[in-house]
Amino acid sequence: MNERQIIEYIAALSGQDTTAGLIRGIGDDCAVIDKDGHHVWLLTMDTLIEGVHFDGGLHPPDKLGRKAVSVNVSDIGAMGGRPLFVLLSLGMPAGFDESWFRAFAKGLADGCREYGCLLIGGDTVASPQGFTCTLTVIGEAEAQRVVYRSGARPGDTIWVSGPLGGAAAGLELLRRGIDGHDDFAAFREQHLNPTARVELGRRLAAGGLVHAMMDLSDGLATDLAHLCKQSGVGARIAAKDLPCREALATAARLTGSDWRQWVIGGGEDYELLFTADPVQGSSLLALGDCCGLRLAQVGAVVEGAGVTLVGQRSDGSSEEVAIAYQGYDHFRDKPGG
Ligand SMILES: [Mg+2]
Repeated sequence: MNERQIIEYIAALSGQDTTAGLIRGIGDDCAVIDKDGHHVWLLTMDTLIEGVHFDGGLHPPDKLGRKAVSVNVSDIGAMGGRPLFVLLSLGMPAGFDESWFRAFAKGLADGCREYGCLLIGGDTVASPQGFTCTLTVIGEAEAQRVVYRSGARPGDTIWVSGPLGGAAAGLELLRRGIDGHDDFAAFREQHLNPTARVELGRRLAAGGLVHAMMDLSDGLATDLAHLCKQSGVGARIAAKDLPCREALATAARLTGSDWRQWVIGGGEDYELLFTADPVQGSSLLALGDCCGLRLAQVGAVVEGAGVTLVGQRSDGSSEEVAIAYQGYDHFRDKPGG
C-alpha cells in the first residue's frame, strides 16, 4: 500500500457523517468543523520523526522546534485560516540530552509566538528509539472564506508562492556536507527551518482571490494531483514557468541529483499552491509583493484529470509528461529519501 491508498482505506472506514458539525473531513489540509454558523474550526496534525523527517545529528534543535510549528500552521494558512492553539505530543528516548530538549522547546515556543498561537496541552512519552514530535494545531476562519482543495475550475490559472525544490536541495547538501555558495545556505534553511505562508494564505482567502488552495509538503507533482482529484479537473504545468533559485542546478550537479526532479517532486517547500480566475493575475502579484513574496503563475486548470508537465526537448519540439503523484510518498520512498 502506498500513502494515498492507506489514507483512502481509513477514510472509507470512518465515513463522513456531517451531523456533528463536520463540514470537511479527510482529504483537505485541515478538517473543518462548524463553530457558530459564521466561523469554523480548522484542525490539523503533523508528525516529525527522527530518521524519517530529520537527522538528529544535522538538525539544530531550536530550528526543529520552530519547524514543527511551521509545518502544522502551514496547513491552517493553506485554508485561509488563523492558527490559535497547539497541542504537543513528544516522544523522547530515556537519557535524552537535556540541553537539546531545552533548545527544541525554545524553538517551539518562539514558533508559536511568531505565528500567533498558544501551546495549550499535550502528552510526553518515552520513545524506544529516537525523538518524535506530533503537533495538533487548531485554527479559525470565516466560514464563507475557507479555501478548499476542491474549488479549482477549468480555465483557472495555477500559482505557487515561491521557488520550488529548495528544501530537497538543502537536505541533500546537508547530508553530503557541501557548502560554498550563498544560495546553499538558503536551501539548507528551507529544509531546517521553513517559514509557513500563513499571512499570504489568510489574505488570499480574505480577498476572495483564489478558488482552491493547499500547501506544498509532498512536492508539486503529488500535491497538485491531490488538488486536481478533489476538484475533478486536470492541470497543465509549463516547465519553463516553474520558479527555482539559480543555484539549484549547481547544487544538483554537486550532489549527483536531478534539479528538475527536485522542482516537481521535492517535498517540504511549504509554499502555497493555489488556483485563481485569470483576471486576478495583477491583484495576486500585488498581494505577493505586500507579503514580500514573488508569486509565480505556473500553469492552467483543464477539463479531465491528471497533471501534465509541458516542456521542451533539446531539438525545440514540445514534450508532455504525466507527472501526477511523482512526489514524496512515505511508504514508497526510502525513509528520509
Ligand atoms: Mg497540507
